[in-house]
Amino acid sequence: MAEILTSKTAMELEDKYGAHNYHPLPVVLSKGEGAKVWDVEGKEYFDFLSAYSAVNQGHCHPKIIGAMVDQAQTLTLTSRAFYSDALGVYEKYITEFFGYDKVLPMNTGAEADETALKLCRRWAYDVKGIEPDMAKIIVCADNFHGRTISIISMSTDPESKIGFGPYTPGFVVIPYNDLDALAEALKDPNVAGFLVEPIQGEAGVVVPNEGYLKTAYDMCHDKNVLFIADEVQTGIARTGKMLACDHEGVHPDILILGKALSGGSYPVSAVLADDEIMLTIKPGQHGSTFGGNPVAARIATAALQVVKDENLEAKAESLGKIFRKEMNSIDSEMVELVRGKGLLNAVVIKPKNGKTAMDVCIKMAENGVLAKPTHDHIIRFAPPLVITEGQLMTAIGLIKDSILFFD
Ligand code: PLP
Repeated sequence: MAEILTSKTAMELEDKYGAHNYHPLPVVLSKGEGAKVWDVEGKEYFDFLSAYSAVNQGHCHPKIIGAMVDQAQTLTLTSRAFYSDALGVYEKYITEFFGYDKVLPMNTGAEADETALKLCRRWAYDVKGIEPDMAKIIVCADNFHGRTISIISMSTDPESKIGFGPYTPGFVVIPYNDLDALAEALKDPNVAGFLVEPIQGEAGVVVPNEGYLKTAYDMCHDKNVLFIADEVQTGIARTGKMLACDHEGVHPDILILGKALSGGSYPVSAVLADDEIMLTIKPGQHGSTFGGNPVAARIATAALQVVKDENLEAKAESLGKIFRKEMNSIDSEMVELVRGKGLLNAVVIKPKNGKTAMDVCIKMAENGVLAKPTHDHIIRFAPPLVITEGQLMTAIGLIKDSILFFD
């Protein structure tokens, strides 16, 4: 039995023995179920972060945890040196689910992004015929794709990037939601791919103009450039469709998934593509000890089944509309803008009397709703998609009280 800690001791331990690479809200959680979490003192909260959209299916979903426990008691890891009786079954399921020839399983979102970059470069040389080491990938300003050296090399966020050079070359940065800039960048014959988040999550839930993704996709295809969608945060029903790209009928050439692919129970990510792209990587050229392990395979299958069985796409769509309408009805100068799709939303906070988005989040936590500011002045609201309408309305009441407290 784990030692029972107070919140104070738990925070002191993390502060003293853990690297200071995060700045958490002062809340110490010890239990979760559905849309709710509890701290070590037993206080109940609505979780409006969902571990950055990983827990779409709700905390500790019994079907996902059931699959995890069953498999964990049978076989946990083979590495890819051998076959397992779980991986192929999962690969068939996920490729049919999303309509691709093949999947390459990894663990974290960043690893899946790295995989997509490697696939794109390999396709550039082996299929498109770009000269060795000349391939370029277009990315968008204010992107967030993870924390590895290559990924921060394409970041425009000084906090993520500065002080970690030298950086990986081969990226061209253009403004997000700017088709003219994309057209200009696509003139370069060495461009092999365009990597884009269908909605920029970490940038503060920045939703591009309607038609942006479809036009960008068509422009890429005109130039024989791969359209690569990072749906690590937007995928798996979060925005009201299974993929955010589905809102515009776009089927990415390379699809990157993570987070909610396991319902937040385990690090599971995946890259999906058709044979022309996927088969450019040969044995020994890419891999991961844990990627595609039997536990991950069973969990991901269960997590996708839950999304379908519980109709979470439709739920995210309808509850998202209610959420945005209610946030827009708050009569406070602090609410500058409400934006989002499905249950991926943000409220842009205008500081008042020195009180910022962080102060609002701390007040919300006191009132029983957990959310976190991104970029100082934006609060992202992304509850588990299993939240009921009644729970959502209760939480909205608490959020309103917290904002109006500063008026
Ligand atoms: N891509 C996107 C769009 C993300 O939002 C994130 C994480 O927030 C990542 C990639 C990185 O995922 P991970 O933290 O699992 O490496």
